[in-house]
Amino acid sequence: MKDFSKFQPDREIAEYLLDAFTIQNADQVHEQTVQIIEQCRLNKSERSLLDQFLSEYGLTNREGVALMCLAESILRIPDTATKDQLIEEKLTNSNWANHLNQADSLFVNAATWGLLIAGKVITPPNKVFDNPLEWLQDLSKKMGEGSVRRAITLAMQILSKEFVMGVDFDSVLKQGNLKSAVHSFDMLGEAARSKQQSQNFFNAYYQAIEEVGKLNAVNEINHGVSIKLSALHPRFETLKYKYVKAELFESVSALANLAQSQNVEITIDAEEQHRLSISLDLIETLALHKNFKDWDGLGLAVQAYGKRGLNVFHFAKNLAHTRAPLHVRLTKGAYWDGEIKAAQVAGLSGFPVLINKDLTDLNYLFIASKLLTTKNIHPRFATHNAHTITSIHHMAEDADYEFQRLFGMGEMLYAKASKVLSGMQNTGVYAPIGPYKELLPYLVRRLLENGANSSFVNSLLDPTVPPSTLAEHPNQKVIAAINNLQHKKIVSPHNLFPQRKNSAGFDLSEPENLNTLQQNFKEFKDLKITAITHATATTKTLEVKKCVSIADGHPLGTVNIDDLSIIKEDYLVTPSPSWKNLALKDKQTIFFNIADQLEAHRDKIIYFLIHEAGKTYKDAIDEIREAVDFLRYYAVQAEKISQVRQSLPGPTGETNDLFYEPKGVFVCISPWNFPVAIFIGQIAAALITGNSVLAKPSEHTPLLGEIVADIFYDCGIPTDALQLFHGNGEVGQKLISCSGINGVAFTGSLETAKKIHQQLSHKAGPIANLIAETGGLNAMIIDSSSLLEQVVDDILRSAFNSAGQRCSALRIALIHETIYEDLLNLLRDAMKELWVGSPEEFHCDVGPIIEDRAMTRLENYLQQFQDRKFPVFSHNQAPNPGCFIAPTLIELSSLDEIDHEMFGPILHTLPFQVDNLDNMLSQLVQKGYGLTMGMHSRIEGKVDDLLQKSITGNVYINRDIVGAVVGSQPFGGTGLSGTGFKAGGPNYLLQFVDERTVTKNTVAFGGNTDILNLD
Ligand SMILES: Cc1cc2nc3c(=O)[nH]c(=O)nc-3n(C[C@H](O)[C@H](O)[C@H](O)COP(=O)(O)OP(=O)(O)OC[C@H]3O[C@@H](n4cnc5c(N)ncnc54)[C@H](O)[C@@H]3O)c2cc1C
Repeated sequence: MKDFSKFQPDREIAEYLLDAFTIQNADQVHEQTVQIIEQCRLNKSERSLLDQFLSEYGLTNREGVALMCLAESILRIPDTATKDQLIEEKLTNSNWANHLNQADSLFVNAATWGLLIAGKVITPPNKVFDNPLEWLQDLSKKMGEGSVRRAITLAMQILSKEFVMGVDFDSVLKQGNLKSAVHSFDMLGEAARSKQQSQNFFNAYYQAIEEVGKLNAVNEINHGVSIKLSALHPRFETLKYKYVKAELFESVSALANLAQSQNVEITIDAEEQHRLSISLDLIETLALHKNFKDWDGLGLAVQAYGKRGLNVFHFAKNLAHTRAPLHVRLTKGAYWDGEIKAAQVAGLSGFPVLINKDLTDLNYLFIASKLLTTKNIHPRFATHNAHTITSIHHMAEDADYEFQRLFGMGEMLYAKASKVLSGMQNTGVYAPIGPYKELLPYLVRRLLENGANSSFVNSLLDPTVPPSTLAEHPNQKVIAAINNLQHKKIVSPHNLFPQRKNSAGFDLSEPENLNTLQQNFKEFKDLKITAITHATATTKTLEVKKCVSIADGHPLGTVNIDDLSIIKEDYLVTPSPSWKNLALKDKQTIFFNIADQLEAHRDKIIYFLIHEAGKTYKDAIDEIREAVDFLRYYAVQAEKISQVRQSLPGPTGETNDLFYEPKGVFVCISPWNFPVAIFIGQIAAALITGNSVLAKPSEHTPLLGEIVADIFYDCGIPTDALQLFHGNGEVGQKLISCSGINGVAFTGSLETAKKIHQQLSHKAGPIANLIAETGGLNAMIIDSSSLLEQVVDDILRSAFNSAGQRCSALRIALIHETIYEDLLNLLRDAMKELWVGSPEEFHCDVGPIIEDRAMTRLENYLQQFQDRKFPVFSHNQAPNPGCFIAPTLIELSSLDEIDHEMFGPILHTLPFQVDNLDNMLSQLVQKGYGLTMGMHSRIEGKVDDLLQKSITGNVYINRDIVGAVVGSQPFGGTGLSGTGFKAGGPNYLLQFVDERTVTKNTVAFGGNTDILNLD
C-alpha cells in the first residue's frame, strides 16, 4: 500500500484511491442514506436550537457572518461600551428583514435570531419588526438600559452551551446522562502561549483523568480523555522540537501514567499539518516506552483530509504490531481553511491537505476500510455524515468499532441512522469541557463546520438539496471531477499572483528538511572565514577582513576598502548603453533567471544571512522570497512603462505621444537588516527600467552583496550596468557626489536620508531625485474586543522578530485599559518562551544586534528608563558575552516619553481609555513618522475611524505589522518615514524614469489626411 508525500498532487491520490477502493453494497448504502436524511428532515420538532438557527443563518449571508463574529467575541469583552459598539455594528449593518418569515421554525421566525434569543429573556415577541433599530428601541423600552447587551450575551452563552458539556467537571457530573454513551472528554483550549497556560491545561487534563477514572469505576463504562499536544507546551514546533521534546514527553507521560493507573483511555488529537511529523514522533516515543508498551488505552486521531492520512494509518498499523493494541479515531479534519491559507502564505510547493471535499470523503472511506481489517487496532469513526456512517456500517460486517460524534451535534442523525441501519454500533461522544473564554477557537470551528456550504450537516436539513444528491458515493463524484479537482478559488501557492510565479517557500515544519539544510551548510562553513578573493570588474580594490561570524554574537571586524580615491568625481557615471538598449523582454528573461538562480542558491544565501546578518532561519527564508518576488514583480511591472508609447488626445493634424525613458544612473544604498531583499529591490527597479546602478551594500554585509552581484552578473547583467562598491557611509557619500548621478535609492536611518537630501541639493549636475525609506515609530492599537492569544502572537512577531531590527517593527502597543493587565501578563509569560542567542540554532527566536555601538545605544536607552523607575520587563536570558539584547517591555505613562525609533527588541506599552484614544492618535501623528500601524478590533467602524486618523503608509488589521509581501502590501511610509511610491507596488518604477512627450504636426508631413479621408 502506498505512502503519499506531503504535497502529492491530488489527482495522483484520486487515481490511486479510485483504483484501490472497492465499493461495497453501493445501492443499499445509497438507499439507506436517503432514508436517514429524509427521516431527519421529516421531524422538525426534534431539531436542535442550533439546527434551527443555521437553517436560516448559514455563513453565506452577511447576517450569519455578523452573528458568528458576535459569537466569537462578545463573551470575552470586559467593558460594556465595547460590547455595545460591537452589538450595534453587527446588528444594524445587516439586513435582518430578509430573514423575517423565511424560517420554518417559529422560534427563528419570531424576528431575527438576535430577537429570538432576546425572547428567551423576555416574553417571546409576537410582533415582526421592519428593521433592527425599531426592534432595538422596542427592546430597550421594555427592558431598560443594557438589556440588549444582556440578551445578546446570554444568546451567545446559549449557543456556547450547545457545544460545550460544562464549564468544569462538576457541572458535567450534574448533568448525569453519562451512562448511555461513552464519552471522550476534551479540555477546551489549545496551543498554549506560555508555561503558565500549558501548566493550566496539564492540570485540567490531570483532573479530568482522575474524575473520569472515578466515573468509570462506578459506572463500569469506558469514558476517555482527548489531549492536544499543543496545549501542553507553548512552543510545540518543529524548529524547537529538539529542545521541547523532553519537557513535552514528561507532561504527556505523566498524564499517560495516571490514565493507565485509573483505567482511562487517552486519545491524542490530530492538529495542524505543520505539527504532524513531530506529533507522530512523540506518539511513537510514548507508545513504545516500556511503561506504556503493554497498555491498550492509548490512541491517536487521523485526519483523512491530510495527504499523509494514509501514511498515518501505516504508522499506527506498524506501531500496533510492536505493542499492545491502539485505538485510532478517524476524522476528516477540522482546520481545512486554515491549512489552505497557511500553505499559500508560506509559499509551499502544494497543499498538505486534499483540495476536493469528495476526495476527502473517499480517502476517509478507504482508510476506514483498512482500519476495519487491521489487527490490534480499534477503530473509532468520527463523522456527522450520513453517507459515511452508512458506508462504514456496511464495510464493517462483524468488525469491532465505534462511531463518534461531537457533543451538540449529530444526535438526531445518529438516532435516525440507528433505526435505518440494523445492528448499528454504538455512538461515542466527544465532549468539550471548559470556561467560555477558552471556547472561542473551538466554537468558531464548529460554526464553520455547521454553517459551511461544503459540509454535510449544513445540507442535511436543507430542503433545496435533494437527499439523493447527498447520498451519492464520493467515488462517483471524484470520477466526475477527475479533471477538475481544484476549485478555481483555491489557488495553489505558486500561482497566487496572476502574472508571475510566486516565490518558493521552504517548509521548516519537516524535521527532514532541517537535516538536509544542515548537511548542505557544511559546504559553506569554510567560506565564512575566507576573504573574498575573486573580483568582479568593480570590486577588485576590496579587501574584506572577515574573521568571525555574527551568528556567535560577535560583530564583524572592520571591512576596508583600500583606496577610496578610486571613486573620483566623474567615476563611472555614464549609463551603460548596451543595457539601456536591450529589449525589455531580454531584460525580463535575465531577471526571471536571476530569480530562479537565487532560489537555486537558497541554502548558501540562508547560510550567509545567518552568519553575516544574524538572521534566523525563518527570517532568512522570508528575505530570499521577498527578493525573488521583487525581481519577478518589477520585471512584469516594467511592461507598463518601458518602451510603451501612449497616445494622448489633441486636435486633428497633430499626434501627442507620451513615453518613458530611464533616468540614467542610480546610486543604490541598502541597509544591513535586509542585505538581500532591499539590496535587490533597489537595484532591480533601477535596472529593469534601463538605468545603470552604482550599488553600495552595507559595510556589515559585504559577502551577501558579493553573492548577489555575482548571480546578477552570471545571469547576464553587464558589469558596466551594475557596479558594486563596498565600504561605509563615506563611500556612499562619494558615490552620491559623482556629477552624473540622476537619482538615489536609499533605505536606512532618517539622519542619513536627510544628509543625502542636503548633499544632493548642493551638488553639481542633474537634479537627482531621492527615493528614501527610513524608520518609524510604529504603533498597534488593541481594543477590548481582540483575542488576547492572537494579539500576543502578533506582538511577538512584530516587535521581536529580527531582534526588532526592522523599520516596520512594532515600537508602541496602545492597549485598552480593561485588558491591559491581562494582555501584559500573557505577553510577559510568552516573552519568557523566546530564545535569544545564535541564529545558527534552529530554535533561535531573537538573534544578535548588528554591532557593538548599536547595542550600547540600546543598553543606554533601557538604563535611562530603569533609572527613572519605569516598569521595565525583560526575561534575562540574553547570552553574555555577545551582542544580544533580550526582548524588553517598557511601560510608559505617556507618549511624550518616546519620540524616536530605537532599532532593537524593545516594545513600549501604554493603556488607553476610549476617551483619550483620539488624543493619542494625534500625538502619534505629530511625531511625524508614518510607516506601519496595526489595529486589533472586531469592530469595523473603529478600524475605519483609525484609517481616517492615521497617516501611516501601511496599516494592518487583526494581524502582525511586519513582513509586507511584494505586490500584495506595497511598502513605504510618509512624513519622516520616507518619500515616494512604495516598494513592491504598482507605481514604484515610475520613480526611475523620466516622462517625455512628443507632439508632431502631422500636416507638415503631407497634409491633414485624417479628416480629408473620412468615409
Ligand atoms: C469525535 C470527534 C473527534 C474529532 N477529533 C478531531 C481531531 O482530533 N482533529 C481534527 O482535526 N478534527 C477532529 N474532529 C473534527 C472533524 O474533523 C470534523 O468534525 C469532520 O471533519 C467533519 O466531517 P463529517 O464527516 O462530519 O462531515 P462532512 O461534511 O462530510 O465533511 C466535512 C469535512 O470535509 C473536509 N473538507 C471540506 N471542504 C473540503 C475541500 N474542499 N477539500 C478537502 N476536504 C474538505 C473538512 O475536513 C471538513 O471538516 C473530530 C470530530 C469528532 C466527531
